[in-house]
Amino acid sequence: MNQNLTFTIFGGTGDLTFRKLLPALYNMCVSGRLGADDRIVIIGRRSYSDDDYRAIARDWVSKFSRLPYTEEDFAGFASRIHYYQMDFSDKEAYEGLNRYYQEHQLYSHIFYFAVAPRFFGIIVEGLTGVDGAENGKVIIEKPFGENLAAADALNQKMEAFFSPDHIYRIDHYLGKEMVRNIQTIRFTNPIFSNLWSAEHIECIQISALEDVGVETRGGYYDSSGALKDMVQNHLFQILSIVAMEQPEQFSGSEMHAEQIKVLRSLRPVKAKNIKDSLLLGQYEGYLEEKNVDPNSTTETYAALRLFVENKRWKNMPFYIRTGKKLGHREMDVAIVFRRSSPEIAPNILNIKIQPTEGVYLQFNIKNPGDTDEIVQTKMDFCQSCLDIFRINTPEAYERMLDACMQGERSWFSQWDQIETSWKFIENIRKVYYKQNLPVYPYTPETNGPTEADEFLNHYNHEWFE
Ligand code: NAP
Repeated sequence: MNQNLTFTIFGGTGDLTFRKLLPALYNMCVSGRLGADDRIVIIGRRSYSDDDYRAIARDWVSKFSRLPYTEEDFAGFASRIHYYQMDFSDKEAYEGLNRYYQEHQLYSHIFYFAVAPRFFGIIVEGLTGVDGAENGKVIIEKPFGENLAAADALNQKMEAFFSPDHIYRIDHYLGKEMVRNIQTIRFTNPIFSNLWSAEHIECIQISALEDVGVETRGGYYDSSGALKDMVQNHLFQILSIVAMEQPEQFSGSEMHAEQIKVLRSLRPVKAKNIKDSLLLGQYEGYLEEKNVDPNSTTETYAALRLFVENKRWKNMPFYIRTGKKLGHREMDVAIVFRRSSPEIAPNILNIKIQPTEGVYLQFNIKNPGDTDEIVQTKMDFCQSCLDIFRINTPEAYERMLDACMQGERSWFSQWDQIETSWKFIENIRKVYYKQNLPVYPYTPETNGPTEADEFLNHYNHEWFE
């Protein structure tokens, strides 16, 4: 355990801090994973005293912590929290922050950038005025840059200041229990590992469906869209884990090396195959959302059909589907095995990531009784249905903060992964818009644009409902 560590959270009055970071730190504190003298410094512009901020934090922690909230535990946690008022875009203000750290003898740092990406570079510049900040670690939220050029410039700036192995680019989906489980399910079960290839699998479907719209984040979302907000980071990470070769060890660098090979092997999308590769949609009512351009063509839905060009996955489609304001909330990975004959339903292994966590396997049986009819049944393991697993399973942010403290980098995104996926996403968007392909409108609370049904001709999400 690091001694006397200081977590400084830029964006400490934001949604992410209140809903995720403070509850995660509370859980870590209660379960003894913070050092006795570790401190949390909250940076915000508002005029709060420590006690004002702690009182606000109490409401959020009591509502969102995984471990039971008690006044006693919270008092112990709150005593570590200090509020420091500053405008982080004001370069001069960092002199004051530097003095504050020195007065309180806070020298070992983890900086958390829980702010919009346009501020990442500004904060790094400001930290150049803080003694010893360059020796600290930094956790940086997604999206890493708003496009490839911005991501590249940001990366150069970050790496010029922080040591590259102290930069933790967080993709909190990689902290989710069932994403972590993909490699165990796949590699420790010969019934799956032996069949994990295009020879035995018909297609793989990765879905991230949301029932909510853009809510209060219209301004950010409108400049981003589904491809940049979900596919470039979370869903490409999951795809690369599902498709990678088995690393010699599941340590950071070996796993990254296998993941990046997958991303680099994605079949390039060009004008001639764009219509078979991408379909975009926008929910009706999006243009009336707050801070959204009334003429916006930003996609709130994306369906992709991609191919990984290597021996294992030759000509087998990977479907990715994500969108907002859909009929239900669901994130899962479905492995659809080849059928024994065309009229018989496939075996499907479904790894459910959220909101339910579990594993489901569909297979065929004879309908009981005096009949030869074939019907499908499913074996299921719903991990999150059991209280014991729910309470004992750290939340994604808790895991990621813990990993950063321990210097464990396996589940953070590396620059080459980010760069490769940005290149792919920027290209596919460019080709789509250049061909003047439509952004199809869809009715909220449906499965998305009806045009996607044909595009996703193998895709049948109803199998598991
Ligand atoms: P947010 O609610 O808008 O919070 C942004 C924070 O930045 C606020 O505390 C705001 O302070 C502060 N801030 C802005 N300008 C400032 C300045 N000049 N000086 C000091 N503080 C300033 O955003 P968020 O939802 O927490 O998201 C933060 C980051 O996390 C974004 O990169 C987002 O993409 C990422 N993220 C968020 C979530 C989530 O669940 N929210 C999930 C994944 C990733 P004021 O209160 O004074 O405005």
